[in-house]
This record gives sequence, structure tokens and C-alpha cells, in this order.
Amino acid sequence: METDLAGGIVPSALTENLDPHRVNMHGTNTYEPRCKSLVGEVGKAAHCGIYEVRPSPCHDLQPAWEYGEPSPQCDKARIKHGMQPLTLDMWEPLQRR
Ligand code: SF4
Repeated sequence: METDLAGGIVPSALTENLDPHRVNMHGTNTYEPRCKSLVGEVGKAAHCGIYEVRPSPCHDLQPAWEYGEPSPQCDKARIKHGMQPLTLDMWEPLQRR
């Protein structure tokens, strides 16, 4: 485990037990998932409130176009929240802000 209780850095207070060996972030294992560490309004301005100590699955998820490639997981999440998948044409102007 990656939580502070097991010597890791992820705050255990922000996790819940998934099974005897694994935890997940509070709010992510529900029908309408929303991590309780997510700050802001999805689709407007949102960010991870524990970015520096986020768990490994969050490190593994590549945001679309951040490294020049699309992200199927990112697209899936955007569609679930009523947004279009991020295209490169949408991404580039966001980087100039
Ligand atoms: S990146 Fe942050 S807000 Fe997103 S799921 Fe991971 S811990 Fe939660």
C-alpha cells in the first residue's frame, strides 16, 4: 500500500479500503465517481488537491496531449462529464494561456 499508514505518502484519511490489500481514493469507487481530492468544478477549472502525494494510478494516467498523444482514459472521463474528447486543436490553445 502507498498510504502514510504503510510508510507511503498518500494520506490514508483520503482513502477507503477496496479489499484487504488495496485501497482507493475516497469517492472513486462509486456509480458517479468523483475523487474527494479533486478541487474545483469539472469542465471549468479543476485540479488535484493532493497532486504531490497522489497515488501511483494517478501518476500512471496520462492526460490527453500532455506528452503528444491522446488518452483513451482521459477521453472516457471527459465524455462521462458531458465534454468532448480533447483534441490536439483544443489542447494547444490551452497551453498558451
Ligand atoms: S489525481 Fe488527485 S484528484 Fe485525481 S483521482 Fe488522483 S488523487 Fe484524486
